[in-house]
Amino acid sequence: MQPMPEDWERAVAVVAHPDDLEYGVASAVARWTSQGKQVSYLLATRGEAGIDGMDPAEAGPLRVDEEQRSAAVVGVTEVHFLDHQDGLVEYGVALRRDLAAALRRLNPQVIIGQSFDLTWGEEGPVNHSDHRAVGLATLDACRDAANRWVFPDAGPPCTGIRDVYVAGTGTPTHFVDVTGTIDRGVASLREHRAYIEGLGREFDPDEFLKNMAGYVGLGAGCEYAVGFRRYPMG
Ligand SMILES: [Zn+2]
Repeated sequence: MQPMPEDWERAVAVVAHPDDLEYGVASAVARWTSQGKQVSYLLATRGEAGIDGMDPAEAGPLRVDEEQRSAAVVGVTEVHFLDHQDGLVEYGVALRRDLAAALRRLNPQVIIGQSFDLTWGEEGPVNHSDHRAVGLATLDACRDAANRWVFPDAGPPCTGIRDVYVAGTGTPTHFVDVTGTIDRGVASLREHRAYIEGLGREFDPDEFLKNMAGYVGLGAGCEYAVGFRRYPMG
């Protein structure tokens, strides 16, 4: 793994649900915002179907609120929701269009995406279909956003996106040293109080995130790291 380049100013992190970014990426976001970079969050859904014991009408607004507070902990003030239906996000033109329109407005140089692998690791559990849909559509929407003839009514093209860095893959190419910011990443995950309580089991964000980042850190040569797979946009 190589250190992820930090010669950029604006990134957009794109995921399906509130809490997806807080399972690791937020520690890297804290590092970037402390360097003065601008990071925006773009979520396909409000996560309204994510708490078993809570009706979606109640869970949706609550999870939006939790996500905004999570984002603020790591220096992110812009959180956008595309309002696709949680649990039923479809890979397709509608999703690509919404993502491309948002990317054109935000005009980033770097995109942080989520894994669209079928499973977590080689023999791990199946990755959520919303993650697979949004992760793959994010890659395609970067190209769509740059092409003025694709979605011509969705704003002027943005041609500055250089790379997509996908988190949570089994085959990372780059890492971010988060030794100095992992505690802010943990605090960011802790803001998802209703979600964590709704899991119905013991869950320690500090232990979970430090185990994962410690493992990646072993390969990166630092105490704690987050891994990403780079997809150059050409
Ligand atoms: Zn998710």
